[in-house]
Amino acid sequence: MSTGVVVACDLDRTLIYSAAALRLGGEDEDAPAMTVAEVFDGEPISFWTRDAEQMLGDLVEASTFVPTTTRTRKQYARVRFPEPGPRYAVTSNGGHILVDGEPCADWSRAVRERLDECAPLTEVVDHLAAVGDDAWVRKHRVAEDLFTYLVVHRDALPPSFVDDLTQWCAERGWTVSLQGRKVYCVPMPLTKSAAVAEVAQRVGAGRTFAAGDSLLDADLLEHADVAFRPAHGELHEAGWQAPHLTVTRRAGVAGGEEIVARLLAAVRAEAAPEGSAA
Ligand SMILES: [Mg+2]
Repeated sequence: MSTGVVVACDLDRTLIYSAAALRLGGEDEDAPAMTVAEVFDGEPISFWTRDAEQMLGDLVEASTFVPTTTRTRKQYARVRFPEPGPRYAVTSNGGHILVDGEPCADWSRAVRERLDECAPLTEVVDHLAAVGDDAWVRKHRVAEDLFTYLVVHRDALPPSFVDDLTQWCAERGWTVSLQGRKVYCVPMPLTKSAAVAEVAQRVGAGRTFAAGDSLLDADLLEHADVAFRPAHGELHEAGWQAPHLTVTRRAGVAGGEEIVARLLAAVRAEAAPEGSAA
């Protein structure tokens, strides 16, 4: 059964968690059962709780569930969703809409045209090459010719680097987000919310629910009717709030499970007529 709700959910540190992001805490025997959400180079690298994975299957069935990620298409393709998996996905921070795994060419073209409004990618890449230092930059990356990011040694990152870069980028119509070991520079017109609005229009959904943890999710959460974020991550550290936003009680992978549970409850409440016991 499908309702008129689009559920747009960020992946990393919202739905799936690397070992470093799990924040299990407590005693080993109290840790939740977990399953592998992603394999890279033959190694399991992302996880969700077993309960979260199970509820996700229900959520995909009950809504138009749209994984909404800054990951490139290739990075997205590694995530193992419960079968049959979501029909739609938004990758590359809104740069691509995937329908049954295939990018929508019209959307990709329209997005590229919008990027003429801000400084070109090459200018930002050159700037990062000039200001990045091998002492703390592990890799320079360009994602799908749309945006760029650094993989850094977070502990060695100069204290003012992100603030200085944020200011430099803002003057050029770009935005900066620090997530785990990655410093993203993304053109401001490249947003998750625009791509999700396009999917909502295509499927005729009247309502959008969203979840995310980073600054690149802020526009997605702002534009949603109902929003959730975990009690960790960039938005949490910034104390980000909105009237329609709920913050999870728990952090780490348990917070991820809580997000899936809350999204599923919200979708089911939407589907049930008011006052019904269903
Ligand atoms: Mg995230």
